[in-house]
Amino acid sequence: MKIQNYINGEYCDPVNGNWMDNYEPANGKVYSQIANSDSTDIENAYESAKAAFSSWSNTTIEERSRILLKVSELIEANLDRLAQAESKDNGKPLSLAKKVDIPRASANFRFFANAITQFSSEAHESVGLNSMNFTLRQPIGVVGCISPWNLPLYLFTWKVAPAIAAGNTVVAKPSEVTPMTAYLLGEILTEAGLPPGVLNIVHGEGPLAGQAIVEHPGIKAISFTGGTKTGEHLARTAAPMFKKLSLELGGKNPNLIFADCNYEEMLKVTVRSSFANQGQICLCGSRIFVEESLYPKFKKDFVEKVKSLKVGHPSKEVNLGAVVSQPHLEKVLSYIQLGEEEGGKILCGGSRTIVEGFEEGYYLEPTVIEVFDDQCRVNQEEIFGPVVTIMPFKDEADALAKANGVKYGLSSTIWTKDMDRIMRISKSIEAGIVWVNTWLNRDLRTPFGGVKASGVGREGGFEALRFFTEAKNICIKYEH
Ligand code: NAD
Repeated sequence: MKIQNYINGEYCDPVNGNWMDNYEPANGKVYSQIANSDSTDIENAYESAKAAFSSWSNTTIEERSRILLKVSELIEANLDRLAQAESKDNGKPLSLAKKVDIPRASANFRFFANAITQFSSEAHESVGLNSMNFTLRQPIGVVGCISPWNLPLYLFTWKVAPAIAAGNTVVAKPSEVTPMTAYLLGEILTEAGLPPGVLNIVHGEGPLAGQAIVEHPGIKAISFTGGTKTGEHLARTAAPMFKKLSLELGGKNPNLIFADCNYEEMLKVTVRSSFANQGQICLCGSRIFVEESLYPKFKKDFVEKVKSLKVGHPSKEVNLGAVVSQPHLEKVLSYIQLGEEEGGKILCGGSRTIVEGFEEGYYLEPTVIEVFDDQCRVNQEEIFGPVVTIMPFKDEADALAKANGVKYGLSSTIWTKDMDRIMRISKSIEAGIVWVNTWLNRDLRTPFGGVKASGVGREGGFEALRFFTEAKNICIKYEH
């Protein structure tokens, strides 16, 4: 099977005729070929996006909204097929893809179909100057969207839906590690009646196809989700060209657990926030800090619960499927080894899991490492797999210092019933998102993004529509 590009409303092969292998993480076997596109394909995608812009940006809000809603409905109608494709391509449990990934992809289109009908801009009357200012929010033109492998269709649609809702046309590249559902989306776009050229999907490697998007002088804005190092590189390329940039990058999110929390709820949710999607969610809490008095009990109960998690083939009823690729498996294993070398204690997991019948699959035991210094590398660097560290803290100030003692600042989770403490910590913690007594509780209207090395800019709600439009001030002087 060939995963082709979708340019100008049609599937096509990469011009250079190059393909690369696409692996199924559950069994480690190649199961399809991905277009290995280069700057020529990006140029073709750009030309078709450019040609479509004038008409699409002048299409009524109602019509754009109607088409986006249709895409949303068709994703929903194809739930089983898309969930199976996502699970096969990524290694995530099918149940998770059915419950989270694909419904969210549909919700993204539905949300922005509605949001664009409510989007408005400001007017400022300059009293005494006899003038009136209003802000015109215009689509930017051709924009680029680049997404990662952990939540493939979920994050791809989180970018492209607001981009086209706002009247832009798009050159988009999903991760070459998990291209399948973005490929299947092409059929849905055609069926929904999205005009050719409005959304072009090009597959290929980051340094080739991705880089060509970032370097293209006609692509005026880039919305990127991925690793911090890649984000740095992108910024270096795009900033001198004065492109608008939204960077959603890595994280090393803290969980602060106080002794007065709702213990059972905290324990249940902390297992999920540690290992959902094999720990491959940018919002997973990977550094768990627990108040000293609660620490021994937490350590015992948490490890016991983690040991009971089932790892297995993603099509079965399992808690964890396979991690996404062989190189990623090796990276995560090397961090577990590093954790030991640094003096950490592996409380459970720590090794590759062999699943009968799928011996070449990339399975890993959920791993808990007790660390004794919060500055050690396993506690500082993003592992992005089923590995968490645990460590006690003395008091609120110590908890906060540990939470902030890292270069990242994406999300954080606090477990406590003390409202004053909730407010104090929420204000001081260096993170774009603070969850209190909950995790991954998402309202799509809220601003989403990180601080420090976790990125620049906010997605979500009207923030995304603001990013994908350029504000122009019109000042009109009038006579009395
Ligand atoms: P990655 O940075 O390797 O790749 C992300 C995307 O960028 C891919 O499509 C890739 O092909 C492309 N890319 C790579 N090099 C490029 C280049 N030179 N020019 C243009 N594009 C290029 O990240 P990944 O391994 O796919 O994803 C995992 C990372 O994503 C983790 O760090 C995770 O925390 C982060 N992430 C962040 C968020 C968030 O919202 N902040 C969400 C999900 C994942």
